[in-house]
Amino acid sequence: MIILVTGASRGIGKEIAQNLAKQGNKVIANYNKSEKEAQELMRNNQNIDIYKADVSKRTEIKHMIEYVLNKYGKIDVLINNAGISQNKLFTDITDKDWNEIMNTNLYSAFCTTQEVLPNMIHNKKGCIINISSVWGIVGASCESLYSISKAGMDAMTKSLAKELGPSKIRVNSIAPGIIDTDMNKNLKKEDISNILQEIPLEKIGNPSDISKCVEWLINDSYTTGQIISINGGWIIT
Ligand code: NAP
Repeated sequence: MIILVTGASRGIGKEIAQNLAKQGNKVIANYNKSEKEAQELMRNNQNIDIYKADVSKRTEIKHMIEYVLNKYGKIDVLINNAGISQNKLFTDITDKDWNEIMNTNLYSAFCTTQEVLPNMIHNKKGCIINISSVWGIVGASCESLYSISKAGMDAMTKSLAKELGPSKIRVNSIAPGIIDTDMNKNLKKEDISNILQEIPLEKIGNPSDISKCVEWLINDSYTTGQIISINGGWIIT
């Protein structure tokens, strides 16, 4: 299969790309700033191709999709994973913050999906996975923008699943809890131990916990429109 993963130079996206490449898929790993990490990822995995694009920008996404379609002819699976977080009081959030978080987390998924869909609809086949967050489900204090962007992704998942079902395209979200990546590197030991007290499985997750679910969703054929939260029992709805 031909699989595009956005934000795959580090963390969860990198693990997803590596795991899917290991299964024999051709994976196009998108990155933006982490050139060195992306080059290394390609060097170490013969089934991984890399493409630099800032997915908060429509023109860069368009060029990326053109590159993939010209080189590989189709896209079977799209994983909208690129994302950034921000910690701010709601009253301190600026319009610049709004544009940065919403464009990187939500507009990116909207645009990339739009650009990929004509090919999937033509093929009457496709799988789209949005990596959202538990915060999109329950909301996070001082992370309103992040929570709004992730809730938007989940809403897109549900409506698109209904719209695209007849075209045999499945759309799902994976909403991770706390996963051990750079995104959480600023958390103090004390913060982590406080969080751990609220997690029934008493551990934080690894990127592989998410990549295993991605692999399962790709191979499945009857799951669509679902928000699958992988969080050690932290959030049970
Ligand atoms: P991470 O380690 O900080 O990695 C983020 C990735 O996104 C990097 O590869 C980065 O690429 C890419 N990215 C950021 N802005 C981009 C842009 N404008 N264009 C293209 N790529 C961009 O984060 P992570 O923890 O793996 O997070 C991956 C996804 O999971 C995010 O959507 C995040 O919200 C979600 N998530 C994470 C957690 C968690 O606890 N870690 C929990 C819930 C949800 P460059 O470095 O190359 O720019």
